[in-house]
Amino acid sequence: MNDPTGKFGIDSQAEAPIEANVTLDPADWAAFRAQAHVMLDDMLGYIERIRERPVWQPIPDEARAHFRSPAPQKGEELAEVHAEFMRDVLPFAMGNVHPGFMGWVNGGGTPVGMVAEMLAAGLNANLGGRDHIPVEVERQVSEWMREIFGFPRGASGLFVTGTSMANLMAVVIARDAALGYQVRVNGVTAGRKQLTAYASTAVHGCVAKAMDIAGIGSDALRLIPTDSRYRIDLTALATAIELDRTKGFTPFVVVGTAGTVDTGAIDDLTGLADLCKCEKLWFHVDGAFGALAKLAPDLAPRLDGIECADSLAFDFHKWGQAPYDAGFLLVRDAEAHKQAFASPAAYMTRAERGLAAGSPWPCDFGPDLSRGFRALKVWFTLKVLGTERLGAAISRSCSLARYLEGRIHATPELEVMAPVELNIVCFRYRAEDSDKVNAEIAIRLQESGVVAPSTTRIGGRTAIRAAIVNHRTGRAEMDALVDGTLAQGRALVAQA
Ligand SMILES: *Cc1c(COP(=O)(O)O)cnc(C)c1O
Repeated sequence: MNDPTGKFGIDSQAEAPIEANVTLDPADWAAFRAQAHVMLDDMLGYIERIRERPVWQPIPDEARAHFRSPAPQKGEELAEVHAEFMRDVLPFAMGNVHPGFMGWVNGGGTPVGMVAEMLAAGLNANLGGRDHIPVEVERQVSEWMREIFGFPRGASGLFVTGTSMANLMAVVIARDAALGYQVRVNGVTAGRKQLTAYASTAVHGCVAKAMDIAGIGSDALRLIPTDSRYRIDLTALATAIELDRTKGFTPFVVVGTAGTVDTGAIDDLTGLADLCKCEKLWFHVDGAFGALAKLAPDLAPRLDGIECADSLAFDFHKWGQAPYDAGFLLVRDAEAHKQAFASPAAYMTRAERGLAAGSPWPCDFGPDLSRGFRALKVWFTLKVLGTERLGAAISRSCSLARYLEGRIHATPELEVMAPVELNIVCFRYRAEDSDKVNAEIAIRLQESGVVAPSTTRIGGRTAIRAAIVNHRTGRAEMDALVDGTLAQGRALVAQA
């Protein structure tokens, strides 16, 4: 502080050196800027030339050992830490940016999303609430989604980590709507009602977990059999609901899936909506990846009925290609949504003007108070790429799946294990010890660095599963998968 009069009794000479280094900002902005540009360019180069790298590679002990060091007390140069990142982190990433990645349902990301994340980090906005435009950006994306999915005006939306969280919140909202909001004070054990939920056997595991976390218990999730296309059996569902009612249970929610994780099956959403309406049950749709098929005109009709859902969970980080993480929950009745999560606190007082204006805030609609600016990367992705291009990439994933299915059908050594509904193909190499052989083929393909499928169980048997989500994936990768499977399968059988 400059204190020429000496009035504050501060010795400005002594103060100066302390002041100079007190913040955490760079001492030399020009040098920092130059290094930051290098880092940006390196990362863009990584994406641009991703095809020159292996999809994934096993991690050498030496690289892993670098992550067992004590907490740093003294800082290092940014350039040094960046060099370490380039050497020890970047080469050993999961591989979902790579076109050969088709294990599990993971998005590929885009350079647009990447630079938007950088801007969001620079703004360091806290989207819990208060009056600032970043909150409006989230509301804007929410409004776009409301329109795309045909939800009524006034529906609410919220960015969350992923569909696991969105499903959990939907279960909580449905639970509170069924039991009354006093349950938030008294807890689920206070009442006498025993809630039950319904989904098909193909439902994602996070729904059972949601039932568990919501205090209802995973046993209360009734798993209904599926038809030959892995869609929920509506007759069996109606019977199960009826049976539970006669036994004194209180059915409260049905979870339909738009794109099951194993095979990409889409439940009959219109049928489910009708049944839920008759039975007065909350209708939730897990559309983690499948919901965004709504952006592809050729696929959109398959999602008919989704507009009737009481709530819809989906991810922008899968088929939406936004960087992790970017899950979303859309709720028809904003009041029910808010009543399940809003809570009063003095420091959260709202005002008509000033920073505390703009109520209700995002924190009123979910468990999180501090929230990052996930909306920005999605806003950029939607605005720069447009829903048409995103929809075309989604449509192309499904064409590739059909191409792969065709190649498998044309290859006697291979067998398709489940109907190809969207972008997921489950198949196997026919062999004596099929489960073992196919599990080993998948691992060897991953280790080859060329393509990375995963495995799942279909009808009690191990299947190699190719989930085509990445917009960079093309026919070359489908061919490499078939050729690689044949080569590995033949080698394994010859060995046996
Ligand atoms: C991926 C997925 C989930 C879980 O979503 P996260 O974003 O990983 O939490 C739930 N349901 C389905 C059908 C999925 O594919």
